[in-house]
Amino acid sequence: MVSHYEVLGVKFDSSLSEIKEAYRHCLLRTHPDKLGGVKISESIDINAIQDAYRVLSDPDLRSQYNKEVTQVQKSSGYVGTGDGLDEYSLDSFEFDATKLEYSMDCPRCMAKNGFALHENTLEEHADDGLNGGFVVLSQCCSCSLWLKITFQLAVEENWKTD
Ligand SMILES: [Zn+2]
Repeated sequence: MVSHYEVLGVKFDSSLSEIKEAYRHCLLRTHPDKLGGVKISESIDINAIQDAYRVLSDPDLRSQYNKEVTQVQKSSGYVGTGDGLDEYSLDSFEFDATKLEYSMDCPRCMAKNGFALHENTLEEHADDGLNGGFVVLSQCCSCSLWLKITFQLAVEENWKTD
């Protein structure tokens, strides 16, 4: 599903004036007369553009829409590739040996243990990262912040000497 932001080609945090500008631009592109009779894109849907603008230009509708978008992303677990997310090493997490859980206070909303990762979660969801390490994406339990958490597995292996 194409989001209203994608329709207008604006960012999630674009200002109202940027959205107005983008809307004007989109309308021009769909209007054949303005381009010497040449339609630039057949795929641009005027209704989608107007709908996107109607929602994004209204602060109330926009904040409601943002919540829905975030909810969809949460439930599908979709956060893209993690590019652009702040990166934290698992070394900066505290390890609870009884719960086998790593935790860290959220750097944005300061929630106590906003980020908590069980050892099993790490094993199941980790992807290969740089330098033989691993990376896992995690979201704060009380705000919408996502972080990229990097770590090395099997630390004991490194201690072996031949
Ligand atoms: Zn948070």
